[in-house]
Amino acid sequence: MKFSFVSLAREGLTGHLGWTPQWRSPDPKPAYDVVIVGGGGHGLATAYYLAEEYGVANVAVLEKGWLGGGNTGRNTTIVRSNYLWEASEAIYAHSHRLWTTLAEALNYNVMFSPRGVLQLAHNRHEAAALKRQVHANRLAGVEGEWVNPAQAKAVCPILNTDPGIRYPVVGGALQRTGGTARHDAVAWGFARAASGRGVDIVQNCEVTGVRRDASGAVIGVETTRGAIATKTVGVVVAGHSSVVAAMAGFRLPIESFPLQALVSEPLKPVMPCVAMSNAIHAYMSQSDKGELVIGAGTDAYTSYSQTGGLHIASATLEAICELFPIASRLKMMRNWAGIVDTTPDRSPIIGKTPVPGLFVNCGWGTGGFKATPGSGHLFAHQLATGEPHPIAAPFALDRFRSGALVNEATAAAVAH
Ligand SMILES: Cc1cc2nc3c(=O)[nH]c(=O)nc-3n(C[C@H](O)[C@H](O)[C@H](O)COP(=O)(O)OP(=O)(O)OC[C@H]3O[C@@H](n4cnc5c(N)ncnc54)[C@H](O)[C@@H]3O)c2cc1C
Repeated sequence: MKFSFVSLAREGLTGHLGWTPQWRSPDPKPAYDVVIVGGGGHGLATAYYLAEEYGVANVAVLEKGWLGGGNTGRNTTIVRSNYLWEASEAIYAHSHRLWTTLAEALNYNVMFSPRGVLQLAHNRHEAAALKRQVHANRLAGVEGEWVNPAQAKAVCPILNTDPGIRYPVVGGALQRTGGTARHDAVAWGFARAASGRGVDIVQNCEVTGVRRDASGAVIGVETTRGAIATKTVGVVVAGHSSVVAAMAGFRLPIESFPLQALVSEPLKPVMPCVAMSNAIHAYMSQSDKGELVIGAGTDAYTSYSQTGGLHIASATLEAICELFPIASRLKMMRNWAGIVDTTPDRSPIIGKTPVPGLFVNCGWGTGGFKATPGSGHLFAHQLATGEPHPIAAPFALDRFRSGALVNEATAAAVAH
């Protein structure tokens, strides 16, 4: 059923008995044209664009747990496009454009809120790096500006701009068109739209093996709900990309780290933007429910634990209290972690693998939520045509052999 004012009014007046499940939950079929491993935002977006733009609807999305239960439902929802290099500017700007019309396209309120993202600098070195980023962005047509401490305070009134603090604010890079979106709604909206176009969404279905023929090409996957035949597999399993690659017999240049976030008790509106600091590895925004959403840095060691070290959360809160003194009187309600797959150049890997027919979309590290629609759109092109979309081409796995890296160590320095 289409969500509209009329359908809402009708259901409101008739006891809400007419709503149907948002997506079908079929048993997996024995074979599909395309199997997508991973029911996070990126996998679901890929399935949606495959059906919507490429007419490939005989597709299964296999999710070992529940939709969005991975990093999609664990992230701090920050959306921006001000990365440093042309290749990154193109991919994140592509995604940013899709965000602006996503709610209409999916007929689902993803609550995209371009409220402004402020990246703080605390010393001359950081100011130089962020100014370089702003200039590079403007040359590429990506919106951004440099603000001084007073201007930063005007954007974010609860920011402590006292020059005497341990990490004084000396300025910031502001992207006014950046902001946040509702992460669960993104997963659910893509799932509903994909399912409505014929895609099978199968939860509680873990992929446990990759089947290959004598030539090495993929011919299917083994799952906890039986074997499924297919000649095209898209692996979109942030946090476990190396695990699935090992099933197919190859290695990825990826390390997996826990990354934590916290939310406070709900407050009245106090924070009209997103503010973040690379130096202290902390950032904060306010959710529509009123909670302050706080993100930390990654743990220092690799792990598949979805908790993270307490000392990381505690150091983050100390830094947050100094930058935003009102936070010192807040109660924290919850903290959690996700597992992020990071690459040596802090850019994603999208495209072919050594296994014919098996493609990966991974390595988005601490910052892939913002790329969800664009990543799905570009990966759908790869799966439908077998070749990379021009925007995704620089992010091929082969760059770690050729040396053509896309180094985003500064733009991706703080986890967001
Ligand atoms: C605490 C935290 C804060 C973050 N903050 C931001 C932010 O503010 N902005 C931003 O842009 N990014 C942020 N990120 C990063 C962002 O969350 C991820 O890059 C993005 O959500 C990845 O999406 P995905 O769909 O690829 O992965 P996921 O949502 O993790 O989906 C992958 C799915 O694959 C499934 N899976 C794994 N193995 C298998 C298997 N063998 N068989 C079947 N299914 C399998 C998992 O269960 C999971 O549901 C943050 C991440 C964390 C952890």
